[in-house]
Amino acid sequence: MAEKRDYYEVLGVAKAANKEQIKDAYRKLALKYHPDRNPGDKASEEKFKELSEAYAVLSDDGKRSQYDQYGHAGFDQRYSQEDIFRGADFSDFEDMVKGFGFGGGGGSPFGDMFGSMFGGGFGQGGRRGEYGADLQTRVEITLEEAAKGVKKEISYHHSKACNKCSGSGSEPGSRRTTCSTCHGRGQVQQARRAGPMAFYTVTTCNKCSGEGQMVEKPCKNCNGSGKMSGNEHINVDIPAGIENGMRMRLENLGEFGKDGSGDLYVDVYVKKHQTFEREGENIWINKEITFPEAALGGEVEVPTLFGKAKLNVPVGTASHTVFRLKGEGMPKLRRGGKGDEMVRVIVSIPKKLTKKQKELLAEFEKEGEKKSGIFGVF
Ligand SMILES: [Zn+2]
Ligand SMILES: [Zn+2]
Repeated sequence: MAEKRDYYEVLGVAKAANKEQIKDAYRKLALKYHPDRNPGDKASEEKFKELSEAYAVLSDDGKRSQYDQYGHAGFDQRYSQEDIFRGADFSDFEDMVKGFGFGGGGGSPFGDMFGSMFGGGFGQGGRRGEYGADLQTRVEITLEEAAKGVKKEISYHHSKACNKCSGSGSEPGSRRTTCSTCHGRGQVQQARRAGPMAFYTVTTCNKCSGEGQMVEKPCKNCNGSGKMSGNEHINVDIPAGIENGMRMRLENLGEFGKDGSGDLYVDVYVKKHQTFEREGENIWINKEITFPEAALGGEVEVPTLFGKAKLNVPVGTASHTVFRLKGEGMPKLRRGGKGDEMVRVIVSIPKKLTKKQKELLAEFEKEGEKKSGIFGVF
């Protein structure tokens, strides 16, 4: 499904718009895009649908505040299309429709349109399935674990298929019968008449919870719900190179649903490291070296995520010079190869000196005055 546009944007109103402004905006746009004014134009119909959905939400204080709080992502998880239109009041627009000759007579194009657009049109076959909700959990790993990849055990609570009836909800061996209320459709259509208008709302059948079928003898283990809940321990393979805040989706490990279980989302947090700082695929480290090491050059040992590496410090290295250790950084997620380790060399100046060291440095200084400029400033 295409990404939904922001409801305020759809109606072209400010976030702080009051009810009247929202109503006016909807009225203006609904007139423009009403399918009866644009016969056969699919784009207008879509637009009208989008407008009406935005109005249904923003004209309802409860739904509006939920939408403000959670945005589409959270709102759409809580409200189905049916829920969005349930209780929505379009009665204020009857005059508008009549005024333009849409209404009147027995069949109302406005009402029919709502019926055909929003009624029974969800999914194939017009029946909404029972799908389990998605779940979310988090796991914390170290930078070393992120570098090598790690298996983590996660414990969480969720519902799964009842082990006695395998999720069907009926006692093993018993039959299922067609629901007498909805005749197997899973939905019931209700017409609400307001003057010449008929507004159709289609709701999930209460008797069979939208399944269209009834269980003859409910399973005793789960009381016919088909599910049982419990704690689950799973091992999650976290791939090498994963970054802080990345989300993994584990299919079908969310809440149980007769028509499909939800997914489990695992948010991965990589803890801050004491020594290394990550910058995408590269890691940074500060390495202290002594003044003689900097001046004379030589090999120093540097810790890496995978052990140790040798770094060649050239003669006369200034403090804060950065060296690159190729291939000692983070693995590139799903691409192969590794980033680099960037070593920032810090020349440390000792605070305490022995008598001998002081003498030597004094001598060094004297020698330097003779050939000034050789060492420069560090
Ligand atoms: Zn039913
Ligand atoms: Zn059961």
